[in-house]
Amino acid sequence: MTARKSRTAKTAEGDPNSAPAASSLNPLRKALLAWYDANRRDMPWRNTRDPYAIWISEAMLQQTRVDTVIPYWERFLETFPTVETLATADIDEVYAVWTGLGYYSRARNLKHAAETIVADHGGQLPDTAEGLATLKGIGRYTAGAIASIAFEREAPLVDGNVIRVFARLLGIREDSAAKTVVDRMWAVAGELVKGPRPGDLNQALMELGATVCTPRNPSCLLCPVRSGCDAHAVGDAEALPIKRKKTKQTKIRAVAAYIERNGKILAVRRPETGLMAGLWELPGGELEASDETKDRLPEILKDVVGLEILGAEHVGHVQHLFTHRRLTLEVFRCRAEPGARVRRKGPVAHKWIRPEDFLDLAHAGSTRKAMSLLGVTDETSARAAGKKKG
Ligand code: SF4
Repeated sequence: MTARKSRTAKTAEGDPNSAPAASSLNPLRKALLAWYDANRRDMPWRNTRDPYAIWISEAMLQQTRVDTVIPYWERFLETFPTVETLATADIDEVYAVWTGLGYYSRARNLKHAAETIVADHGGQLPDTAEGLATLKGIGRYTAGAIASIAFEREAPLVDGNVIRVFARLLGIREDSAAKTVVDRMWAVAGELVKGPRPGDLNQALMELGATVCTPRNPSCLLCPVRSGCDAHAVGDAEALPIKRKKTKQTKIRAVAAYIERNGKILAVRRPETGLMAGLWELPGGELEASDETKDRLPEILKDVVGLEILGAEHVGHVQHLFTHRRLTLEVFRCRAEPGARVRRKGPVAHKWIRPEDFLDLAHAGSTRKAMSLLGVTDETSARAAGKKKG
């Protein structure tokens, strides 16, 4: 196939790396808004102007699909209907409502930011992107989203969907993670958002990326900006945006023990910083490459929780992917003496807990998989506890 000629949009100074002039973006802006009015998907947070509710939706939508977020968003707002209720809540109550969404640092940051809003902003969210970005957990994207959607500020945003749309529309054929390219995307978004309905404009861009300008098989024939699209003209839309090769994942191995004592099991809480910060898990630790799994288990448990264990049985292993790490977690079942006392080194808290209550604690996906391997799931827990879980 012969590639057609690129026709990158005119830029402010004729420089292909600068943003197109704001006036030249008028037709694009109009086309996006008209398309959005006719095609926007219904989402509950699109039916409110409450900045707090919009903020919660944006926090939940980071890393999580819309369908998954809806029931969590509704439950969160029922439980914490205002900034004040969130600011004064116990963090474990917040985790309990968050359980299952993962990335618990988002929940911690929400609570921390709510405390700041109450203490320093009279209980009102700042109404500019700059003000919002001073709050914990609110980055440049989220600040732009809240400022434009909740406060109609001409604040730009750039996420993965927007990067894809811009790379194709403007024919940007460079590594989309390069700083110069990211800066250019923000500059274009900053020009494009200048005009009426900035919140809808930003949502239109993201919606277009999510539903029409998709990573594979973009529906160019349904696209409202097709006539000005460089990648469509050239015929290389699926090759854009260009992404540099991902960093190789490091493999890590670890052990985790389901330690029973008097009908309860031991749960430990991780420190407030680092990987899986503040989450509860089964006690254990990382292995060196040369370690024999079972041989090291008693030593690791003695070190981490000060317990001598009895009758360790290897149940199996689970695998879990973190951003740059692949964890293989070897899971054991064992016992502790009835009167055994825990002496922690590493975990910041511990509790002996009924197995059916374990999944109510804030925990990571790897721990959930290990518990499932041990026969503890939401269903078995609900049955054992004689209670129905949603
Ligand atoms: Fe994306 Fe195709 Fe629309 Fe271009 S024409 S923005 S490639 S969907």
